[in-house]
Amino acid sequence: MAAEQLATEGCAVTVVEHMPSVGRKFLLAGRSGLNLTHTEPTPSLVARYGVAASRLAPAIESFDADALRAWAAGLGEATFVGTSGRVFPESFRATPLLRAWAARLDGLEVTIRTRVRWVGFEAVPEGVGVRLLGADAGAEEVVVADAVVLALGGASWPKVGSDGGWVEILSAAGVTVSDLRPANCGFTAEWTPTFVDRFAGAPLKNVALTFGGRTVRGEGVVTESGVESGVFYALGAAIRDRVEADGRATVHLDLHPDVDVAGVAARLARRRAKETWSTSLRRAGLAPVAVSLLREVTGNRLPADIGGLAALVKDVPLTLVGTESLARSISTAGGVAWDEVDERFMLRRMPGVFVVGEMLDWEAPTGGYLLQATFSTAVAAARGVLDWLGERNP
Ligand SMILES: Cc1cc2nc3c(=O)[nH]c(=O)nc-3n(C[C@H](O)[C@H](O)[C@H](O)COP(=O)(O)OP(=O)(O)OC[C@H]3O[C@@H](n4cnc5c(N)ncnc54)[C@H](O)[C@@H]3O)c2cc1C
Repeated sequence: MAAEQLATEGCAVTVVEHMPSVGRKFLLAGRSGLNLTHTEPTPSLVARYGVAASRLAPAIESFDADALRAWAAGLGEATFVGTSGRVFPESFRATPLLRAWAARLDGLEVTIRTRVRWVGFEAVPEGVGVRLLGADAGAEEVVVADAVVLALGGASWPKVGSDGGWVEILSAAGVTVSDLRPANCGFTAEWTPTFVDRFAGAPLKNVALTFGGRTVRGEGVVTESGVESGVFYALGAAIRDRVEADGRATVHLDLHPDVDVAGVAARLARRRAKETWSTSLRRAGLAPVAVSLLREVTGNRLPADIGGLAALVKDVPLTLVGTESLARSISTAGGVAWDEVDERFMLRRMPGVFVVGEMLDWEAPTGGYLLQATFSTAVAAARGVLDWLGERNP
């Protein structure tokens, strides 16, 4: 995105990518439906970035969700609004967008060098000396650029390229980098083998999750080692912080959010003679995975009375004992500390070097917020580069 902006303004741009092709994380994001951004009003969208909101706000306000949608439409990918305001390209995928984008960059004469890794900086008399390592081991070169935009990503799914190798390089140069941590990650739970055998991969549909005073409605998924997705990502940052601090976090699931406790009890009271509790619970509207979850959290000792059982359905205490690894998470929390960059996203210690996207210290839930902030910071940094170049060569 930064390359496109700069090339449009007449800069000669080279994109350096260490993988055999660019945009692999973007393509991965498109596999489950590319959620580009969100339609909520900009102030509430910006609030999704929590403590980083004030630093990201100017970038997002000047390249907002509408601008992002217009950009996609300009590449032939009109967008539509899906469930709960999420925005997707009509094809739902990333491939057509990336293909059209690559063609546009080609038209703008952006050079893309793949299988070349950025390995650091070299002091040069003028400009920024960029150390690049080619695919042939040992073939290192120094390229001098007027400005550099680092857009190296976080450290989730390193297989598709963003391996966090930059942390060591920037830290060694004195740049403060907050620890990279999993965000929008799964959590581990102490499932019994029987539960895993039967329900790993099963969706927990139409649930409400409460943690830390917040409640969200949606879905989750049972995994071999715990839970992931939807509601667990939505409250994930707070859950992760508690798990990291205390070694565990107890979240509360409402398995029947449309009916109150009395309503659930009334349904359970229609119990037939000799019917098992499992059957009654299923007839009361619970999926088999939800019924078994009640047995999991009670050590298979369901409350014997209808009132107690109804209360449990409405408030299942589920203890999570760990986070899944950063490599498996959707995104990365932590990154280049905000004090290290100015309003233009330029590193204060390295004039001419800009940082964008997931490398920066922000996090947000899923819902299109990750790509929105990534693109907005790239556009802002590109403007910052032009500004910087203009200052030096009025
Ligand atoms: C499974 C999955 C699904 C997702 N779905 C969505 C979604 O629907 N909506 C959404 O908003 N977000 C989604 N995301 C998150 C989104 O993809 C990222 O937030 C976004 O791609 C971050 O962009 P970035 O440019 O900062 O980093 P990246 O997209 O990771 O790009 C960084 C690039 O830098 C390259 N690189 C790294 N180090 C070097 C080096 N030393 N030298 C040269 N090149 C290097 C990498 O190979 C990579 O191509 C998803 C993520 C995952 C894992």
